[in-house]
Amino acid sequence: MIKLVRQRLSSELESSLVRLTQELAGTPIAERIEHADRMWDRRTVRRDVYRPVKDELETMAPGLDCCMYCGNHMADTVDHFVPKSRCALRTFYWPNLLLACSTCNSRFKRDQHRSDGLVGSLLVDPTRDDPIEHLDLQLESGLYRAVEGSKKGQWTIDVCGLNEGKRPRAREGAWRSLGGDLKGWARARDEGRPDDMRFHLWRMRDQPFADVCYAALHKAVSENAGAIFVDTDPHVLALLRDEELRALLLL
Ligand SMILES: [Zn+2]
Repeated sequence: MIKLVRQRLSSELESSLVRLTQELAGTPIAERIEHADRMWDRRTVRRDVYRPVKDELETMAPGLDCCMYCGNHMADTVDHFVPKSRCALRTFYWPNLLLACSTCNSRFKRDQHRSDGLVGSLLVDPTRDDPIEHLDLQLESGLYRAVEGSKKGQWTIDVCGLNEGKRPRAREGAWRSLGGDLKGWARARDEGRPDDMRFHLWRMRDQPFADVCYAALHKAVSENAGAIFVDTDPHVLALLRDEELRALLLL
């Protein structure tokens, strides 16, 4: 999971969302959830609100439309962080909308929600929380671990199925592929081949599971990098710390 900055919407889109929320607020409480579902599926909402909201989320997402939960690319749905079934009035609330792959949205998370015991959610919200404080991605295995003592981290791993199926294997592959591209980029730089530098940069930016590159860049400058990268090619670690490359990858 990658920390994200939520963008401001155009005043036109913001007004549309407010108008829809006001319409929902005007419906009887007992009918509100059902009404929210119907409104979300309305053809005009799909055209005038859903598509522009999804476009905004895609510009916020790293890589090639990375899922804001699992990090895989080509995410294709708008997810309600707090499900419609739990709080219908947040159906059209911009801070409640995230870009998600259909596996996270429809197979794992669905309408699950758990409060943190105060007013927030137990799920990590990458637009509000810093995921690194809750989730630790093990580069060699591709598995996520909760940061010690973080209930949010563990709940997020469980509810989004971050370690389910072939996801760890795909992240492990992304880590190996990243190492190859880092070295390929450096070779191209040393030999003055800008086209090849761009090719490797494009592969690193757009490869599936952008969370792997993000975690590697973060860990490379952490206090315990020496222990984390003990089995890693020292050249790869040096490149993860290369200022020019970091500036290009941490856009
Ligand atoms: Zn996902």
